[in-house]
Amino acid sequence: MMADKGSPKRSVANNSKKKKKKRGGAKRKMTLEQTVAYKAVSEWVLLDQSNSCSNSKSLVDSTLDDFGVQCYQPKEKLVFEFHSHTTCSDGYLSPTKLVERAHQNGVKVLALTDHDTLSGIPEAMDEARKYGIKIIPGVEISTIFHSRVEFFPEEPVHILAYYSSCGPTKSEELEKFLKRIRDGRFIRAKNIVSKLNKLKLPVKWENVTKIAGKGVAPGRLHVARAMLEAGHVENLKQAFARYLYDGGPAYSTGSEPVAEETVQMIRETGGVAVLAHPWALKNPAFIIRRLKEAGLHGIEAYRSDGKLSVYCDLAEAHDLLKLGGSDYHGRGGQHESDLGSSTLPVFVVHEFLKVARPIWCNAIRDILKNYLKDPSESNLQNIMKFWRPKTSKSNDPHCSANEWIDQCLLWLSKELNNENLETTQLEVSRVLSELNLSYGR
Ligand SMILES: [Zn+2]
Ligand SMILES: [Zn+2]
Repeated sequence: MMADKGSPKRSVANNSKKKKKKRGGAKRKMTLEQTVAYKAVSEWVLLDQSNSCSNSKSLVDSTLDDFGVQCYQPKEKLVFEFHSHTTCSDGYLSPTKLVERAHQNGVKVLALTDHDTLSGIPEAMDEARKYGIKIIPGVEISTIFHSRVEFFPEEPVHILAYYSSCGPTKSEELEKFLKRIRDGRFIRAKNIVSKLNKLKLPVKWENVTKIAGKGVAPGRLHVARAMLEAGHVENLKQAFARYLYDGGPAYSTGSEPVAEETVQMIRETGGVAVLAHPWALKNPAFIIRRLKEAGLHGIEAYRSDGKLSVYCDLAEAHDLLKLGGSDYHGRGGQHESDLGSSTLPVFVVHEFLKVARPIWCNAIRDILKNYLKDPSESNLQNIMKFWRPKTSKSNDPHCSANEWIDQCLLWLSKELNNENLETTQLEVSRVLSELNLSYGR
């Protein structure tokens, strides 16, 4: 969805200027809770880069204040971006360019959340390695919410899914689920174009697909760009405000799955399910309650203009995580919030990780177990969509597989330390012995 629906813009540069001003000459000190959150999140951010980086001493400075009390200061500001789009859906930047921009803006953790596709993840991961940026494989799934209550209309609802560094479990099943939505998007965009033609606003179908790019399922933003090019509107906002808004004169639904089913699908494939931009909904409280019953983990409550207390309250009332991002599309111009501008506090990410990491740990274990059961080339290729070897120079699949298994075991061992899950420890030992059998180590 368009990022600027009621969301005032803010740039990363403005944010940092503001922060500097606020701090003045004195260095900002952290409370003990903040230190714990900062250390836990930093260790997770640095986990894939180097084993030695996970030494907590390198992450915070500790000094004694005037009263002899230990104080902690973060060495580095952690910038997170949990909602972004690329040319793989309706964004303007390629995954490579998006990661470059993330690096320029000091983003340390970037979740790529294209509409109904995970196809940009491998390219983003390759690029992110250059800068030491952590990529969270994500997707923003288009769904429809049926209220089943009289007078409450059905509503389009976007649900974000966040996966581990190994991607989703049952990835083929998820891909089929997403492909159905993408195929529906073609039909939907065609319906929108024919509605526009009837409204005497001719738009060529070829232009829409050309703007979307090869193989990319067209969305409303692509149609809006074609309308702008044809001179029917002055800007993209006008295209949405007059014709393309939900239920608008040129609006059309596709073949979106039911919102509750989507939440369940995300859970079954080892993801964390977060409701995107609840402020764009007509009945947010009602929808949040029903999606929580279906197993929703969290809702967006932070934007580039700060946190929205009404959605924070709703999250707390339903025991849901609070998250958020800029919904960056790379359109440029004054009306867009920049990548990494949503200034998510570290404790919010810490709370997210407390929920996400055990889910991801189980997913990694499942993917690992599946591979050990069937160490075929095609299974390995599926894994390589989300994970890229660092050291294997040759294209030897055996080397890549070994490297990947080592990485999985590292992730799992960290989870054991943090979560102290005895059951996981037993499971890892079992997997390790299977590994010895398979690889003769
Ligand atoms: Zn959206
Ligand atoms: Zn979005």
